[in-house]
Amino acid sequence: MPPPEVKAAPCRYRTGKTLGKGSFSIVKEAFHVDSGNVYACKIINKKLMTGREAMVRNEVKALKQLSYGHPNVVTLHDYFETTNNIYLCFNMCTGGELLQRIHRRGTFNERDAAALMKKLFHVVKYIHDTGIVHRDLKPDNLLFDTDAEDAEIQVADFGLSRIMDEQKMSLLTEVCGTPGYMAPEIYKKLGHGKAMDIWSLGVITYYVLVGYTPFELASTEAEMDAVVAGEYRFEPEKYWSNISEAAKNFIAHCLVIEHGNRPSAETVLQHRWLTDGGNVLLDPT
Ligand code: ADP
Ligand code: MG
Repeated sequence: MPPPEVKAAPCRYRTGKTLGKGSFSIVKEAFHVDSGNVYACKIINKKLMTGREAMVRNEVKALKQLSYGHPNVVTLHDYFETTNNIYLCFNMCTGGELLQRIHRRGTFNERDAAALMKKLFHVVKYIHDTGIVHRDLKPDNLLFDTDAEDAEIQVADFGLSRIMDEQKMSLLTEVCGTPGYMAPEIYKKLGHGKAMDIWSLGVITYYVLVGYTPFELASTEAEMDAVVAGEYRFEPEKYWSNISEAAKNFIAHCLVIEHGNRPSAETVLQHRWLTDGGNVLLDPT
Protein backbone atom coordinates (compact mmCIF):
# COMPACT_ATOMS: atom_id res chain seq x y z
CA MET A 1 0.00 0.00 0.00
CA PRO A 2 1.48 3.42 -0.85
CA PRO A 3 2.07 5.65 2.19
CA PRO A 4 -0.58 8.29 2.74
CA GLU A 5 0.05 11.94 2.02
CA VAL A 6 2.69 13.44 4.36
CA LYS A 7 1.91 17.00 5.37
CA ALA A 8 4.32 19.63 6.62
CA ALA A 9 5.33 19.64 10.29
CA PRO A 10 2.47 20.80 12.49
CA CYS A 11 2.77 24.05 14.36
CA ARG A 12 -0.99 24.45 14.25
CA TYR A 13 -1.76 22.51 17.42
CA ARG A 14 -0.75 22.95 21.04
CA THR A 15 -0.94 19.75 23.08
CA GLY A 16 -2.54 19.58 26.52
CA LYS A 17 -3.18 16.84 29.05
CA THR A 18 -2.83 13.13 28.33
CA LEU A 19 -6.11 11.32 27.72
CA GLY A 20 -4.86 7.78 27.27
CA LYS A 21 -1.80 5.65 26.74
CA GLY A 22 -1.40 2.48 24.71
CA SER A 23 1.46 0.22 23.78
CA PHE A 24 2.36 2.21 20.66
CA SER A 25 0.74 5.56 21.20
CA ILE A 26 -0.29 8.32 23.52
CA VAL A 27 -3.51 10.31 23.18
CA LYS A 28 -3.39 13.98 24.19
CA GLU A 29 -5.68 16.97 24.07
CA ALA A 30 -4.71 19.14 21.12
CA PHE A 31 -5.81 22.76 20.79
CA HIS A 32 -6.04 24.03 17.25
CA VAL A 33 -4.31 27.39 17.44
CA ASP A 34 -6.30 29.17 14.73
CA SER A 35 -9.80 27.96 15.53
CA GLY A 36 -9.44 27.32 19.28
CA ASN A 37 -11.09 23.91 18.77
CA VAL A 38 -9.92 21.02 20.90
CA TYR A 39 -9.25 17.57 19.50
CA ALA A 40 -7.98 14.24 20.80
CA CYS A 41 -4.64 13.64 19.13
CA LYS A 42 -3.18 10.16 18.94
CA ILE A 43 0.60 10.53 18.74
CA ILE A 44 2.50 7.52 17.55
CA ASN A 45 6.28 7.42 17.87
CA LYS A 46 7.65 6.07 14.61
CA LYS A 47 10.58 4.42 16.43
CA LEU A 48 8.18 2.30 18.43
CA MET A 49 6.39 1.45 15.24
CA THR A 50 9.34 0.18 13.23
CA GLY A 51 8.04 -2.68 11.19
CA ARG A 52 4.50 -1.82 12.18
CA GLU A 53 3.98 1.30 10.12
CA ALA A 54 1.51 -0.61 8.02
CA MET A 55 -0.65 -1.03 11.12
CA VAL A 56 -0.98 2.75 11.47
CA ARG A 57 -1.49 3.33 7.79
CA ASN A 58 -4.26 0.75 7.97
CA GLU A 59 -5.82 2.67 10.80
CA VAL A 60 -5.71 5.89 8.80
CA LYS A 61 -7.12 4.27 5.72
CA ALA A 62 -9.88 2.52 7.64
CA LEU A 63 -10.82 5.66 9.52
CA LYS A 64 -10.84 7.87 6.48
CA GLN A 65 -13.17 5.39 4.84
CA LEU A 66 -15.42 5.05 7.84
CA SER A 67 -15.43 8.11 10.01
CA TYR A 68 -17.40 10.47 7.81
CA GLY A 69 -19.93 7.83 6.94
CA HIS A 70 -21.40 7.04 10.35
CA PRO A 71 -22.30 9.03 13.47
CA ASN A 72 -21.09 6.24 15.74
CA VAL A 73 -17.53 6.06 14.39
CA VAL A 74 -15.10 8.54 15.92
CA THR A 75 -14.32 11.22 13.32
CA LEU A 76 -10.74 11.53 12.08
CA HIS A 77 -10.40 15.28 11.69
CA ASP A 78 -6.75 15.59 10.64
CA TYR A 79 -3.69 13.46 9.96
CA PHE A 80 -0.02 14.33 9.52
CA GLU A 81 3.47 12.99 10.06
CA THR A 82 6.72 14.52 11.28
CA THR A 83 10.15 12.90 11.23
CA ASN A 84 9.54 11.26 14.60
CA ASN A 85 5.80 11.01 15.02
CA ILE A 86 2.51 10.26 13.36
CA TYR A 87 -0.43 12.42 14.49
CA LEU A 88 -4.10 11.49 14.24
CA CYS A 89 -6.50 14.23 15.36
CA PHE A 90 -9.95 12.98 16.29
CA ASN A 91 -13.04 14.84 17.36
CA MET A 92 -12.94 15.01 21.13
CA CYS A 93 -15.24 12.63 22.99
CA THR A 94 -15.68 14.29 26.36
CA GLY A 95 -17.99 11.63 27.78
CA GLY A 96 -15.22 9.12 28.47
CA GLU A 97 -15.06 5.39 27.84
CA LEU A 98 -17.91 2.90 28.25
CA LEU A 99 -15.65 1.26 30.82
CA GLN A 100 -15.58 4.42 32.96
CA ARG A 101 -19.30 5.00 32.54
CA ILE A 102 -20.05 1.55 33.91
CA HIS A 103 -17.69 2.10 36.83
CA ARG A 104 -19.38 5.41 37.55
CA ARG A 105 -23.08 4.77 37.02
CA GLY A 106 -23.13 0.98 37.49
CA THR A 107 -24.43 -1.61 35.07
CA PHE A 108 -27.11 -0.88 32.48
CA ASN A 109 -30.70 -1.99 32.89
CA GLU A 110 -31.93 -4.23 30.09
CA ARG A 111 -33.69 -1.51 28.17
CA ASP A 112 -30.59 0.72 28.12
CA ALA A 113 -28.31 -2.25 27.43
CA ALA A 114 -30.46 -3.38 24.49
CA ALA A 115 -30.56 0.17 23.07
CA LEU A 116 -26.76 0.44 23.36
CA MET A 117 -26.12 -2.98 21.83
CA LYS A 118 -28.56 -2.29 19.00
CA LYS A 119 -26.59 0.84 18.18
CA LEU A 120 -23.30 -1.06 18.36
CA PHE A 121 -24.53 -3.89 16.17
CA HIS A 122 -25.77 -1.33 13.62
CA VAL A 123 -22.40 0.42 13.49
CA VAL A 124 -20.52 -2.90 13.35
CA LYS A 125 -22.78 -4.00 10.48
CA TYR A 126 -21.81 -0.76 8.73
CA ILE A 127 -18.10 -1.37 9.41
CA HIS A 128 -18.40 -4.96 8.17
CA ASP A 129 -20.33 -3.89 5.07
CA THR A 130 -17.34 -1.76 4.06
CA GLY A 131 -15.13 -4.85 4.33
CA ILE A 132 -13.44 -3.92 7.61
CA VAL A 133 -13.14 -5.92 10.81
CA HIS A 134 -12.49 -3.83 13.93
CA ARG A 135 -10.73 -6.65 15.83
CA ASP A 136 -10.43 -4.89 19.17
CA LEU A 137 -13.95 -4.11 20.34
CA LYS A 138 -13.99 -3.64 24.11
CA PRO A 139 -15.41 -1.08 26.56
CA ASP A 140 -12.27 1.10 26.59
CA ASN A 141 -12.44 1.56 22.82
CA LEU A 142 -16.06 2.76 22.98
CA LEU A 143 -16.29 6.46 23.82
CA PHE A 144 -19.21 8.80 24.58
CA ASP A 145 -19.15 12.09 22.72
CA THR A 146 -20.44 14.09 25.73
CA ASP A 147 -21.19 13.58 29.42
CA ALA A 148 -24.94 13.61 28.79
CA GLU A 149 -26.94 10.52 29.72
CA ASP A 150 -28.10 10.17 26.09
CA ALA A 151 -24.68 10.93 24.51
CA GLU A 152 -23.80 9.16 21.27
CA ILE A 153 -21.38 6.28 21.51
CA GLN A 154 -18.37 6.29 19.19
CA VAL A 155 -16.32 3.31 18.07
CA ALA A 156 -12.62 4.20 18.36
CA ASP A 157 -9.19 2.60 18.03
CA PHE A 158 -9.05 0.94 14.67
CA GLY A 159 -5.34 0.26 15.31
CA LEU A 160 -5.72 -3.41 14.72
CA SER A 161 -8.27 -3.36 11.95
CA ARG A 162 -7.42 -4.69 8.55
CA ILE A 163 -9.04 -4.07 5.24
CA MET A 164 -10.49 -7.44 4.51
CA ASP A 165 -10.04 -8.62 1.01
CA GLU A 166 -13.44 -10.15 0.42
CA GLN A 167 -12.21 -12.00 -2.63
CA LYS A 168 -9.29 -13.71 -0.95
CA MET A 169 -10.75 -13.63 2.58
CA SER A 170 -7.28 -14.51 3.75
CA LEU A 171 -7.34 -15.86 7.26
CA LEU A 172 -4.60 -13.97 9.03
CA THR A 173 -3.36 -15.84 12.02
CA GLU A 174 -1.38 -13.50 14.24
CA VAL A 175 -2.75 -13.08 17.73
CA CYS A 176 -4.31 -9.68 18.27
CA GLY A 177 -6.96 -8.01 20.35
CA THR A 178 -7.46 -8.16 24.09
CA PRO A 179 -7.77 -11.29 26.25
CA GLY A 180 -11.27 -11.61 27.63
CA TYR A 181 -12.90 -10.06 24.57
CA MET A 182 -11.08 -12.18 21.99
CA ALA A 183 -12.89 -14.95 20.12
CA PRO A 184 -11.86 -18.65 20.32
CA GLU A 185 -10.72 -18.76 16.67
CA ILE A 186 -7.95 -16.27 17.51
CA TYR A 187 -6.52 -18.51 20.23
CA LYS A 188 -6.94 -21.56 18.02
CA LYS A 189 -5.17 -19.70 15.22
CA LEU A 190 -8.03 -20.44 12.87
CA GLY A 191 -8.00 -16.91 11.55
CA HIS A 192 -10.13 -13.90 12.19
CA GLY A 193 -12.93 -12.49 10.18
CA LYS A 194 -15.99 -10.44 10.92
CA ALA A 195 -17.27 -13.11 13.32
CA MET A 196 -14.68 -12.11 15.91
CA ASP A 197 -16.34 -8.71 16.32
CA ILE A 198 -19.69 -10.45 16.98
CA TRP A 199 -18.03 -12.48 19.74
CA SER A 200 -16.59 -9.31 21.31
CA LEU A 201 -20.01 -7.63 21.21
CA GLY A 202 -21.46 -10.70 22.96
CA VAL A 203 -18.84 -10.29 25.71
CA ILE A 204 -19.61 -6.55 25.88
CA THR A 205 -23.35 -7.29 26.28
CA TYR A 206 -22.57 -9.58 29.21
CA TYR A 207 -20.29 -6.89 30.66
CA VAL A 208 -22.75 -4.00 30.44
CA LEU A 209 -25.46 -6.07 32.16
CA VAL A 210 -23.41 -7.32 35.11
CA GLY A 211 -20.13 -5.36 35.19
CA TYR A 212 -17.74 -8.29 34.68
CA THR A 213 -16.85 -10.42 31.67
CA PRO A 214 -17.86 -14.07 31.12
CA PHE A 215 -14.26 -15.25 31.01
CA GLU A 216 -12.78 -13.27 33.88
CA LEU A 217 -10.36 -15.72 35.49
CA ALA A 218 -7.18 -15.55 37.54
CA SER A 219 -4.70 -15.96 34.69
CA THR A 220 -4.57 -15.25 30.97
CA GLU A 221 -4.02 -18.98 30.35
CA ALA A 222 -7.14 -19.93 32.31
CA GLU A 223 -9.08 -17.23 30.46
CA MET A 224 -7.84 -18.49 27.12
CA ASP A 225 -8.81 -22.11 27.95
CA ALA A 226 -12.29 -20.97 29.01
CA VAL A 227 -12.75 -18.96 25.80
CA VAL A 228 -11.61 -21.85 23.60
CA ALA A 229 -13.98 -24.23 25.40
CA GLY A 230 -16.75 -21.60 25.41
CA GLU A 231 -17.01 -22.16 29.16
CA TYR A 232 -19.00 -19.41 30.77
CA ARG A 233 -22.02 -19.18 33.05
CA PHE A 234 -24.68 -16.69 33.94
CA GLU A 235 -23.42 -16.66 37.52
CA PRO A 236 -23.27 -15.71 40.37
CA GLU A 237 -27.04 -15.97 40.57
CA LYS A 238 -27.41 -12.70 42.52
CA TYR A 239 -26.29 -10.74 39.42
CA TRP A 240 -28.43 -12.68 36.98
CA SER A 241 -31.68 -13.35 38.82
CA ASN A 242 -33.36 -10.23 37.40
CA ILE A 243 -32.05 -10.64 33.89
CA SER A 244 -34.38 -12.04 31.25
CA GLU A 245 -33.98 -15.32 29.41
CA ALA A 246 -34.07 -13.28 26.20
CA ALA A 247 -30.92 -11.38 27.25
CA LYS A 248 -29.13 -14.63 28.12
CA ASN A 249 -30.28 -16.16 24.85
CA PHE A 250 -28.96 -13.08 23.03
CA ILE A 251 -25.51 -13.44 24.64
CA ALA A 252 -25.44 -17.16 23.79
CA HIS A 253 -26.47 -16.25 20.21
CA CYS A 254 -23.29 -14.13 19.91
CA LEU A 255 -20.95 -16.44 21.84
CA VAL A 256 -21.08 -19.37 19.42
CA ILE A 257 -17.71 -21.15 19.66
CA GLU A 258 -17.50 -22.20 16.02
CA HIS A 259 -16.91 -18.93 14.16
CA GLY A 260 -18.40 -20.30 10.96
CA ASN A 261 -21.71 -20.78 12.78
CA ARG A 262 -21.72 -17.43 14.54
CA PRO A 263 -24.43 -15.08 13.20
CA SER A 264 -23.63 -11.93 11.23
CA ALA A 265 -24.36 -8.46 12.65
CA GLU A 266 -27.40 -8.32 10.39
CA THR A 267 -28.78 -11.58 11.81
CA VAL A 268 -28.08 -10.52 15.39
CA LEU A 269 -30.04 -7.31 14.77
CA GLN A 270 -33.13 -9.47 14.24
CA HIS A 271 -32.89 -11.09 17.68
CA ARG A 272 -35.99 -10.39 19.77
CA TRP A 273 -34.01 -8.92 22.68
CA LEU A 274 -32.96 -6.09 20.35
CA THR A 275 -36.22 -5.81 18.42
CA ASP A 276 -38.18 -5.72 21.72
CA GLY A 277 -35.77 -3.12 23.08
CA GLY A 278 -34.82 -5.24 26.11
CA ASN A 279 -38.41 -4.89 27.29
CA VAL A 280 -38.75 -8.59 27.96
CA LEU A 281 -38.44 -8.78 31.73
CA LEU A 282 -41.77 -10.51 32.09
CA ASP A 283 -40.78 -13.60 30.13
CA PRO A 284 -43.22 -16.47 30.61
CA THR A 285 -41.13 -19.24 32.15
P1 ADP B 1 -4.76 2.67 22.08
O1 ADP B 1 -4.30 1.99 20.85
O2 ADP B 1 -3.68 3.27 22.88
O3 ADP B 1 -5.72 1.81 22.90
P2 ADP B 1 -7.05 4.42 21.62
O4 ADP B 1 -7.40 5.00 20.30
O5 ADP B 1 -7.93 3.37 22.17
O6 ADP B 1 -5.55 3.94 21.54
O7 ADP B 1 -6.96 5.62 22.68
C1 ADP B 1 -6.51 5.40 24.01
C2 ADP B 1 -7.44 6.13 24.98
O8 ADP B 1 -7.38 7.55 24.72
C3 ADP B 1 -8.91 5.76 24.83
O9 ADP B 1 -9.23 4.58 25.54
C4 ADP B 1 -9.58 7.03 25.38
O10 ADP B 1 -9.58 7.02 26.78
C5 ADP B 1 -8.65 8.14 24.89
N1 ADP B 1 -9.15 8.64 23.59
C6 ADP B 1 -8.90 8.15 22.37
N2 ADP B 1 -9.55 8.83 21.40
C7 ADP B 1 -10.26 9.79 22.03
C8 ADP B 1 -11.18 10.82 21.60
N3 ADP B 1 -11.49 10.99 20.31
N4 ADP B 1 -11.73 11.61 22.55
C9 ADP B 1 -11.44 11.44 23.84
N5 ADP B 1 -10.60 10.50 24.32
C10 ADP B 1 -10.01 9.67 23.44
MG1 MG C 1 -7.67 1.42 22.76
